[in-house]
Amino acid sequence: MYLNRRLFMASCGFSALAACTPTPPVSRTAAVFPANYAPVPDAGFAAWVSSFRGRAIGQGIAPAVFDAAFADAGFIPEVVNRDRNQIESRRTFEDYLSIAASDDRIAKGRQAILQFKDTLNAVGLRYGVDPLIVAAIWGVESRYGERRGQVPVISATATLAYDGRRGRFYEGQLIAALRILQAGDTTPDQLRGSWAGAMGHTQFIPTSYLALAVDFDGDGRRDIWADDPMDALASTGAYLARNGWQNGLPWGAEAGVGVSEGRRVQPQEGGPVFNVTRNFDVLKTYNNSDFYAIGVGHLADRLGGAGPLRGSFPPDANGLTKADRMALQRGLAARGYDIGTVDGVIGSQTEDAIRAFEASQGLPVRGVADRQVLARLR
Ligand code: CA
Repeated sequence: MYLNRRLFMASCGFSALAACTPTPPVSRTAAVFPANYAPVPDAGFAAWVSSFRGRAIGQGIAPAVFDAAFADAGFIPEVVNRDRNQIESRRTFEDYLSIAASDDRIAKGRQAILQFKDTLNAVGLRYGVDPLIVAAIWGVESRYGERRGQVPVISATATLAYDGRRGRFYEGQLIAALRILQAGDTTPDQLRGSWAGAMGHTQFIPTSYLALAVDFDGDGRRDIWADDPMDALASTGAYLARNGWQNGLPWGAEAGVGVSEGRRVQPQEGGPVFNVTRNFDVLKTYNNSDFYAIGVGHLADRLGGAGPLRGSFPPDANGLTKADRMALQRGLAARGYDIGTVDGVIGSQTEDAIRAFEASQGLPVRGVADRQVLARLR
């Protein structure tokens, strides 16, 4: 049965642990999919699931676990769309950093640290990692738990395994997801994450979960999906420790500010240069991207009270600096156009607003954030 109504989020906090206890697949409610992520009938996918069932059982998945996991699972076209149009790669490092360490993410992070400082400190002590780094990963991965992802993981990873672009990888993730269900850590309906199968507060993929997730609150389940982030933050600490985090060593720093050891990295031509240490490489085991590792490191610095980067970035391809782009966004907002947050990042919302503005002025509609538009708005 395929449902296409908006998701309501099941609450699974400390006060509701009883309601979250794994139950055998005797009675169940049909899964609810987020908007745009409803599965569609697909004969090829169904045939693939039939043949995969044999492989999964051959790898130790109990037939009852498999059948319960796939009872509501299906092929999700939007997952394939997202896989083929990943947006991160088009952003400049300046834009990436504007989002990863936005004022909002810094402010929310400082609140989250106050709220969970005992947990973060306990994780830091147990695993020998920097609690601010753990908090920054939490912030970048899910906005401190706000965006854990609501796409059912079995459907997402099965879709990607079937689709084939990275089929082997995702078949491994799918098997791992089935093992999570078999272990009773969560239920098929609560096994949710991003469109790519990254789960919980700090977005563990299923194989990383199996290898490194921990039960830090001692309730017998490694629950990285619950509202309470304790197990997820501890799992992240365990992950960093296992991948070689050296306690007391900074991740790096902007060149000329503090850390002078390590090698130099310049993620964007003409922009700031960073000195990075071995802990930078540990951050890259979480997500193999210089942008990501510096984004996390810089956010951690900001959460700890450090100021913005001192270096500046060159104008973008359309000749605008970040200050120009923010002025352009403010000009549009002042005229009543919805551009979202004034962050200097030109996304589709700002481009739509530019088009609407150009149309209202009788100008050629281009939707490009450049000096011409900025001049019109000034
Ligand atoms: Ca637990």
